[in-house]
Amino acid sequence: MNHQAIPVPSLEFQLTDTCQNNCGFCANGDSPSKKQSLSPELLQETFRRMRPESVIFSGGEPTIRMDLLAPYIRAARAAEVKTVKINTNLELLDPERLMQLEDAGLNIVHFALNTLEPEQHRNLRGNPHAEVTRVLENIHVILEQTRLKLKPEFVCMHETVENFWDVYDYLNDLHVAHPGRFETIELQRLILLGRACDASAPKTSEIAEIISRRTLGALQVDALCFGQEGAQFAPYGIHVFPCYNPANCGCSPVRVDVNGGVSKTNFAGLQADFNIMNVPDGGIERLLSSPCSASLKACAKV
Ligand code: SF4
Repeated sequence: MNHQAIPVPSLEFQLTDTCQNNCGFCANGDSPSKKQSLSPELLQETFRRMRPESVIFSGGEPTIRMDLLAPYIRAARAAEVKTVKINTNLELLDPERLMQLEDAGLNIVHFALNTLEPEQHRNLRGNPHAEVTRVLENIHVILEQTRLKLKPEFVCMHETVENFWDVYDYLNDLHVAHPGRFETIELQRLILLGRACDASAPKTSEIAEIISRRTLGALQVDALCFGQEGAQFAPYGIHVFPCYNPANCGCSPVRVDVNGGVSKTNFAGLQADFNIMNVPDGGIERLLSSPCSASLKACAKV
């Protein structure tokens, strides 16, 4: 087969749908009971057809499959991907694994930190064995024993919103002590998909309060917003990622799931636009001109 390519600047791979945790706010609904993973064939076919400049390996928890993650990072480098990130809960890593991933070509570690309290962390993660101390230890290992960059995220929920400044201060101190190692902290509004419910949704005013104080520290705060929320936050001068669809988070790259489904979102409940392994020759033009592929077209380089 000689499929035409759709080059995109940034691409997310769901490396696995398995995760040791069971967060109620998981946008993908991933859990310990799921067992699928991305095949090397799908990885190579995607590189050939989408030629990304940057990729994120997410899940599920990608480090649960270190046997795939390190070789897939190497494959990304071999495919001339410039920036390779992982989206991880940071709990299954240790110094040896982190150095293995850095040696493979990893650049950036994206992780969520929603509380510094061990008990609340276990509750939020839906896992009695989850350990926030492990997360914090691994942040220090990354800063002190590797050259990897860190991209923290805070999921803003009714249960967590009051933790924001404690988490921020903790990370801001590290940012000041290790200049150039942190990207912005991403303030992410709870996504009411997956298992999350209305009761966990923060008020817009609570998020606006954080945003209005966002310049108090050195670590920059960015916000992820949805549809019209972007307009609500615009007066604060904050960087709001562009939205192509009110149901989609604007900064999400094109996502390839473990089954090859391709969509412009990483949120459960939305259908993939098409399956990359099942697009016949000549089918790309048809897909790009169809209404369901408008979001993909919007971020394609062609
Ligand atoms: S949010 Fe992250 S850590 Fe929680 S279940 Fe989903 S993939 Fe796992």
